Amino acid sequence: EAQKETRGFQTEVKQLLHLMIHSMYSNKEIFLRELISNASDASDKLRFEAIAKPELLEDAPNLRIRISGDEQNRTLTIEDNGIGMSREEVIENLGTIAKSGTAAFMQQLTGDQKKDSQLIGQFGVGFYSAFIVADKVEVYTRRAGLPATEGVHWESTGEGEFNIATVEQPERGTRIVLHLKAAEAEFADGWRLRNIIKKYSDHISLPIELPKQHFGEEQDKPAETEWESVNRASALWTRPRTEVKDEEYQEFYKHVAHDYENPLSWSHNKVEGKLEYTSLLYVPGRAPFDLYQREAPRGLKLYVQRVFIMDDAEQFLPLYLRFIKGVVDSNDLSLNVSREILQKDPAIDSMKSALTKRVLDMLEKLAKNQPEQYATFWKQFGSVMKEGPAEDFANREKIAGLLRFASTSNSDDSENVSLDAYLERMVEGQDKIYYLTGERWSQVRNSPHLEIFRKKNIEVLLLTDRIDEWLMSHLSEYKDKQFVDIARGDLDLGTLEDEDKQAQEEVAKAKEDLLKRIKEVLGADVDQVKVSHRLTDSPAVLVINEDGMGVQMRKILEATGQ
Ligand code: ADP
Ligand code: MG
Repeated sequence: EAQKETRGFQTEVKQLLHLMIHSMYSNKEIFLRELISNASDASDKLRFEAIAKPELLEDAPNLRIRISGDEQNRTLTIEDNGIGMSREEVIENLGTIAKSGTAAFMQQLTGDQKKDSQLIGQFGVGFYSAFIVADKVEVYTRRAGLPATEGVHWESTGEGEFNIATVEQPERGTRIVLHLKAAEAEFADGWRLRNIIKKYSDHISLPIELPKQHFGEEQDKPAETEWESVNRASALWTRPRTEVKDEEYQEFYKHVAHDYENPLSWSHNKVEGKLEYTSLLYVPGRAPFDLYQREAPRGLKLYVQRVFIMDDAEQFLPLYLRFIKGVVDSNDLSLNVSREILQKDPAIDSMKSALTKRVLDMLEKLAKNQPEQYATFWKQFGSVMKEGPAEDFANREKIAGLLRFASTSNSDDSENVSLDAYLERMVEGQDKIYYLTGERWSQVRNSPHLEIFRKKNIEVLLLTDRIDEWLMSHLSEYKDKQFVDIARGDLDLGTLEDEDKQAQEEVAKAKEDLLKRIKEVLGADVDQVKVSHRLTDSPAVLVINEDGMGVQMRKILEATGQ
């Protein structure tokens, strides 16, 4: 062993390890799924690099994953002949967490195990999950293309540090050896392993092999281990929809999304014609911690004729659908397609609009058929969907139909009123959609602006999300009904107005002197003082000019110093 050294884990890794070991005990076996998922990714990456450099395959072009337990020594070994890692890559990948925003995220940890284990889900468990069942983990790896002398040995007990050394490593790829905790010896058992693989990893598109089981006698054990594949080993999205079980779709999601919980919904489609491609799109069950990080990776996994090309291909969906996970497999793109080429290719634009529509349709279906699941979706991703009308003008009516609002029809601040539900509840003579924006629900709910609406039993949407004014500035109508901000200008209730116009004008005339005096006192603080008919209890209300800037927008601009 050469260049042996001991290094400390990055603080965030230590926190993640601690959290994982103490919160995942009810779901231990997922570690195997994570390690198989990584081995599969590593094989995908090698296949991709080998398109340009076939010599990387050396004399082992058949990619596979091998898993074997040793009950005597209580070890479990997972081996792939994929891309492998260089020494720098090992230090980077198995010593730090490179995702931006991680440190800030970890600061939210409370020490309350239940709450914190929820957080871990937003993060993904990954390689470090090996320490759920192992008290020591060893990694032997060599990157494809590097000489055998540049193999790397990494080992750690998952406490605060790891050892790393340069070793001779004739085989390309990565071998991970778990030294199982005494209580986890079951994970060295061949039948147990076979069952877990069947359950979690059947969708993995390369063979997962276990040593062939020999029944009974030990005597004629072959000198060399015989391996047999235990999974189906075909790309899941290439199979007909009717032949894929829900559980298989769910497990595949966990692999592509690096999530460990089930998705809310999915949509699997094969498109034939001018452009030929297959897409499998998923709506996750919860937002990742970096949903609002500008640099956070997003997009689909791109395959060309079943060959993996890249992760995070963001050209296939608009920004407001950045939470969607899945794969797109094209028959038309070239194997050496790059991000730059994707950006310029007009075929990608038409795929993007088709995939966008698929997602919106899938969400519509979810809202219609599984309203509870949709409520979860809205909680997690509603604010991102509100970016939609501004970004995607062509689909803004469709997106508007997916929005959910708080409203005076609710007794609390739940955002669960759709515009369609609002339209259904409109009173006779009403032809507008009324809304009020503000900072907090408790404040808008008591606003004097609502008095006249309460009196007339007209529903008003209550918008208190920071992005709501921005959203409303891009939505002027829904199904031919105009949106009206009730805090703005002269409120024209049209045919809903029941008071006698003439009587109102007489009142206004009679009060002219009073208005003048009030205007003199308030001076430049207000633009005009008028008699209002919209109040039933309050004596006065502040109103924004028709063309004035909204209160929230004003605050945002003030906060940014404008
Ligand atoms: P993720 O898979 O979400 O990136 P993981 O914690 O599972 O996170 O893995 C961290 C990184 O370690 C991977 O992104 C990859 O670069 C590297 N890695 C893990 N396992 C392997 C492997 N078997 N072969 C090559 N690289 C690996
Ligand atoms: Mg992983």
